[in-house]
Amino acid sequence: MGGSNPVIGLLGGGQLGRMLCEAANPLGIDIAILDDKNAPAKQAHNTNRHVTGSFKDPAKIRELAARSDYLSVEIEHVDTDVLEDIEKNGVEVGLADGSTVTHRPPIHPSWKTIRLIQDKYLQKEHFRSSEKEIPIADQLAIESGDAALDALKDAASKFGFPFMLKARKGSYDGRGNYKVDSANDFAPAIKALGNLTLYAEKWAPFVKELAVMVIRTEDDDGKLRSCVAYPAVETIHEDSVCTKVFMPPRNISDEVCEKARELACSVISTLWGRGVFAVELFVLEDDSLVVNEVAPRPHNSGHYTIEAVPYMSQYKAQIHAVLDLPIPEKLTPRVPASIMLNILGGVAPNSHHKLARLARSTFNEHMDVYLHLYGKESKPGRKIGHITLTGYSSIEELEKLAEPFVELVDKMRL
Ligand code: ATP
Ligand code: MG
Ligand code: MG
Repeated sequence: MGGSNPVIGLLGGGQLGRMLCEAANPLGIDIAILDDKNAPAKQAHNTNRHVTGSFKDPAKIRELAARSDYLSVEIEHVDTDVLEDIEKNGVEVGLADGSTVTHRPPIHPSWKTIRLIQDKYLQKEHFRSSEKEIPIADQLAIESGDAALDALKDAASKFGFPFMLKARKGSYDGRGNYKVDSANDFAPAIKALGNLTLYAEKWAPFVKELAVMVIRTEDDDGKLRSCVAYPAVETIHEDSVCTKVFMPPRNISDEVCEKARELACSVISTLWGRGVFAVELFVLEDDSLVVNEVAPRPHNSGHYTIEAVPYMSQYKAQIHAVLDLPIPEKLTPRVPASIMLNILGGVAPNSHHKLARLARSTFNEHMDVYLHLYGKESKPGRKIGHITLTGYSSIEELEKLAEPFVELVDKMRL
């Protein structure tokens, strides 16, 4: 535990944890990371409190808890049984005189939220059955083993084609999703995902995908205090991976963006604990909204807040929320437009170098360019960095200025 400077113990030390550390450093807040030895977040924050190991290992999570004032996560795929036990029974911490005390670091967001969100099917059943009106795509649990084929036939007769077959747990970047276009896809879909617990989801014929980051605060007794939303952003997914984010969304009315913000706050108000959350949404042709899923942590769609909402980026917000420091009532970007481009590893380890060179050498009065590399080894398709562009007029103008960047980003995917 950290004396005067609070210590947040973080399960996971990837790029989200790294950017959390970058926000924590000037605030004098210590982050103890549980992950591999040279994880991206550990490279960005020096402390003697890091723990080497897996965020799925109960013993390591206890070790982290023993040296932290608060616990939080940068990934939802963690062991929640041990988090529940730490909240209820605490961990024993040895003192210098040989005695021990029971230490109970608050966990934000709550293990209940993390456990619910880990299962995408249960997550949406929770939203459906909540008192709020939260639209989700129709879904059907799929039995495993020999019964799977009949269950898929059942899904096809209920939803028609195409529909989405999804792993309930453990998926990210679309790994765990299979688009079922016809009965011919049943066997390959089962082959691809068959040893996971699955559910089927009705196809959402969306015209646009949006995401809204929400800061949730509550009192120490668990009573909801506030949900404050960042602006809605447009997310572009290619092969189920988020590649680009536009703020504000292109060709979407302010009313729909405002509706998305309100819906996102309703969604997050049904969960437990403090922190930032992402709500992923589909916009349908008639401008209605459908909730896709929630992430209980900072999110790829919120990277732009580092430069566009600098007084309260999503990472600073996570720190403030977890520690129960003040949160602004409104989150207003300081620039009218921004575009975030993910850098996904190309075929060669140096495929992204040309893009990085362009980012490092572009200066002009209409657009600012911010390069973030995560200190990760490049592998094809791996998120190894991102570039945020901020503009001083419209998103359409910024899009024109961004063309050379977009061209290189798209080329790297080939
Ligand atoms: P993430 O990295 O966001 O956690 P994930 O692996 O959990 O991704 P989803 O968010 O379920 O995957 O889906 C990824 C993308 O696939 C969505 O952003 C969307 O583009 C597409 N998609 C998912 N579900 C549907 C659906 N029911 N109808 C149409 N497209 C869908
Ligand atoms: Mg997901
Ligand atoms: Mg998603």
